[in-house]
Amino acid sequence: MSSSVSSPVLSSVPGQDDAMAFLMQAVARPHHAYLLAGPEGGGKQLAARAFAAALLCDRGGCGECRACTLALEEHHPNLFVVEPEGRDIHVETVREEIWHYAYRTAPEPGRKVFVLREADRLNPAAADALLKVLEEPPADSVFLLLSARPHELPETVVSRCHVVSFRPLSEDFIVSALTEAGVSPERAALAARLSGGNLGRARRLVTEEEGLAFRDQAVEALELARLGPAGALSAAELVVHGAERYRKGLSHVLDAELAPYLDEKGRPEEAYRAAIRRLQDRHKRRERRAERDYVDRVLLAASALLRDRVAATVGGGPDVAINLDLRPPDVPVSGAVAAVGAIEEARAALAEDLNLNVRLVLEQAFLRVQG
Ligand SMILES: [Zn+2]
Repeated sequence: MSSSVSSPVLSSVPGQDDAMAFLMQAVARPHHAYLLAGPEGGGKQLAARAFAAALLCDRGGCGECRACTLALEEHHPNLFVVEPEGRDIHVETVREEIWHYAYRTAPEPGRKVFVLREADRLNPAAADALLKVLEEPPADSVFLLLSARPHELPETVVSRCHVVSFRPLSEDFIVSALTEAGVSPERAALAARLSGGNLGRARRLVTEEEGLAFRDQAVEALELARLGPAGALSAAELVVHGAERYRKGLSHVLDAELAPYLDEKGRPEEAYRAAIRRLQDRHKRRERRAERDYVDRVLLAASALLRDRVAATVGGGPDVAINLDLRPPDVPVSGAVAAVGAIEEARAALAEDLNLNVRLVLEQAFLRVQG
């Protein structure tokens, strides 16, 4: 189509050709709201950042200019990102971070782009507040809602959006995407399997220093837990401490990320002031969530190790193993089955209730490893 532009940032999103072709065509004359719908790890976030860059760049997403660079890092003053705090996106968040900016002049000349991650977590009041904005959309704004559970969004909100579908990515696709990026085939295969079809997570596993540390800690915790009740308590202690360390480390990383935008007195430079303040708020929220996120990743890794243990005894070969490079943990099978259940219960409980005592929940889960 003639309105379609060449957009290097959009072309660089892998594995979602139909969705990206649609967005590429939308850059020239965007609709006011899009719902990017599809499973976790299919590249919705990558696509949202790329689309935001394309909308904020004078050349439709060249991938090289200041606007593109800032948008891809989510530091562009005209890019507003909202994500759940705890389990929900609250109405105050929608008011303060969407409504407030939607009807004001953009910080920099040009469009404003609002990204709502995990949009299905809008609670009813927040969804209502968003709906009012979508019903009278400011002319210079584009809203991108992301969701792996679009059926949980109110129909009234969905009907205001153009739905762009993202498909699940196959393990083979993830392996080839990683090997093309220079990762060794063995490491790529392991990351693809461990991430359960989630490209973003697979990429983090191979690139981040912390990548496999979650699994190392899960291995250690299971070794302790099988020693008996005292070991189970030590296992919980180990994970609680790991989570605390992780939060502190994350806070350093986030500070370092902001450093280039601060002057010598540690104040945001004028041009970035509002954007940096929003980013600092988001960082605070991420730090608050960090310990829960960490615990969840360790539990997920422990659950995968225990599943491998069960699969190995029922004659499952390497095809069904998740941890391709490790022998399953030395836990009795009856214990492994019970523990997988207990660990999944613990994950669900921690996701549901932010006031639970993490240590207690972990102790209860690890006590069930011995069988
Ligand atoms: Zn550009």
